[in-house]
Amino acid sequence: MIKNNIIHWFRQDLRLSDNPALAAAAVSGNVLPVFILDEEGGRQKPLGSASRCWLHHSLLYLSDSLKNNLLVLMGNPLQVIPKLVKQYSIDAVYWNRCYEPWAIDHDNQLTSLLKNMGVMVEAHNGSLLWEPWEVSKKDGTHYKVFTPFYRKGCLQAIPPQKPIGAPKKISYVKRTNPKTIDQLGLLPDEDWHEGMLKHWEIGEKAAKKRLKQFVKQDIRDYQDSRNFPSKDSTSRLSPHLHWGEISPHQIWQHIKKLPNNQNTDCFLSELGWREFSYSLLYFYPDLNKNNLQKKFDKFPWRKNKKNLSAWQSGRTGYPFVDAGMRELWQTGFMHESCSYDHSILLGEEFVNSLE
Ligand SMILES: Cc1cc2nc3c(=O)[nH]c(=O)nc-3n(C[C@H](O)[C@H](O)[C@H](O)COP(=O)(O)OP(=O)(O)OC[C@H]3O[C@@H](n4cnc5c(N)ncnc54)[C@H](O)[C@@H]3O)c2cc1C
Repeated sequence: MIKNNIIHWFRQDLRLSDNPALAAAAVSGNVLPVFILDEEGGRQKPLGSASRCWLHHSLLYLSDSLKNNLLVLMGNPLQVIPKLVKQYSIDAVYWNRCYEPWAIDHDNQLTSLLKNMGVMVEAHNGSLLWEPWEVSKKDGTHYKVFTPFYRKGCLQAIPPQKPIGAPKKISYVKRTNPKTIDQLGLLPDEDWHEGMLKHWEIGEKAAKKRLKQFVKQDIRDYQDSRNFPSKDSTSRLSPHLHWGEISPHQIWQHIKKLPNNQNTDCFLSELGWREFSYSLLYFYPDLNKNNLQKKFDKFPWRKNKKNLSAWQSGRTGYPFVDAGMRELWQTGFMHESCSYDHSILLGEEFVNSLE
């Protein structure tokens, strides 16, 4: 029997388990797993250096899991994918949805292009517990405040889908002349990142290990201890979640199996904040440029390069703020309490005090 050739387009779902689009592709035909580094504007902002570095290592891990069948490419997916379709006689392209407005726009354009070529497209949910359109108020409008969004909206909606395992078997489309992950040039020229990498293990297996460690050591006191940056007791799952090395569904289900208490409830609600951010951005696509609440349009921000640089390099003289920025520089991570205090202190009072 002739099988379909299907592209699975990896984006922020760099894992094999609980990857709905990959699972669907694996049972439907031969799979061409593809990652495309788009430096040309599919994204609103270019990737930061720490994120590029993480991506480099995450791709290495993923490629290994795919028995070196991952095809890595550079360019605009609107051009790259149609070319691949012709080159490899592709019948269908599968991906897990991204929800940023620029990604939605890009995906819509690609879907039309592919459909015009007679290629089937399948998009799945691999990264949100509740997709934005699944949570609404009784009158059909969407929530703008977190607590009702999470408690009345999410928790009363259909429960999150159960995670699925990794495909039992993947048969691959044979590829030619692959580019290496090194050739993507994700690592910085200067070797500042070596120190940062000492703080992390990267990849799908490491993400699962991180979750298990957090559950074993820190969740029992999460509600209180998460507020103390010195305690190092939050999950540190955020970069793994960002690149999709673990899905929120996997985390949700793992936590739900534990006895329910204020700590598990508090941790799950943090995942709710992640959902809320995606939901807001979906319903307010210009949120990255415009304030949700217009009263903040009058917020007295100041443009002062000297102060900005003092803050960036952790030299403001405010120990708590500087500690956060130095932590970020050394480890690529800043504790939530620190980021919160930064946003407060970067208001007028803080900026005035530097002058
Ligand atoms: C002012 C401010 C700005 C922030 N900016 C960002 C940002 O740009 N990118 C980012 O990923 N996080 C941001 N956060 C959230 C938070 O700082 C990080 O998600 C957290 O530090 C990640 O550490 P963790 O994985 O150990 O978190 P945990 O406490 O273990 O939480 C588990 C997960 O829940 C999610 N989460 C937790 N808190 C939040 C939150 N406030 N908003 C959204 N999701 C949350 C994250 O996915 C996190 O990995 C911000 C928080 C504040 C207060």
